[in-house]
Amino acid sequence: MLEKKDILYYNLVGDNMDVSILVNKNNLLNASYVPRNLVFVPSISEHLDSHHQIFVEKETYSHFIKMNEKCPMKMYIVSGYRSYQYQQDLLEYYYKKDGEECYSYVASPGTSEHQTGLAIDFGFIDASTNMPVSQEVDQYKSAFDWILKNAHLYGFILRYPEGKEKITGYKYEPWHLRYIGIESAKEIYKNQETLEEYLERKSCYVKRV
Ligand SMILES: [Zn+2]
Repeated sequence: MLEKKDILYYNLVGDNMDVSILVNKNNLLNASYVPRNLVFVPSISEHLDSHHQIFVEKETYSHFIKMNEKCPMKMYIVSGYRSYQYQQDLLEYYYKKDGEECYSYVASPGTSEHQTGLAIDFGFIDASTNMPVSQEVDQYKSAFDWILKNAHLYGFILRYPEGKEKITGYKYEPWHLRYIGIESAKEIYKNQETLEEYLERKSCYVKRV
């Protein structure tokens, strides 16, 4: 368990968003933090659950659309903005089910980057069946590889890269992208670094996981 003294809390209000904001297990958002400019993401497949409404930050969404136009497979957003309350409810649900073990696979409230509205989990639409596919990384390897090599051109980074688990605190997640702006994303891609390493190099204060 993290000690209170090891945690850096952000006291942000809605208008104070910085696209390079760091959120991880040691850099938390507070409960009242809701990003400005959330936009509704319309469903693109009749196979997707229309009751599950998705929102993301506006600039993030417009860049996602540009990337999607060029991506060899059509992408869709599986998960975007998640509120503090949502994460709290999720944790409580799994706590009842699995007890303490749930802390290993559910992010604690305030530690999820999805609360910024700048993070997306994406999937692809299989053109032959028109069915959504999300985590079949081996089967759709070339499309995932395209994302790996091109996302930075649209301002996104792969937030939890392979082999950087000790720095990010998360296992490799090829479907989790984080919008950070084109300039920063290109630099991070060129240096093959994580957001934590990038911010440290820029002399920003970062609490290590
Ligand atoms: Zn995610």
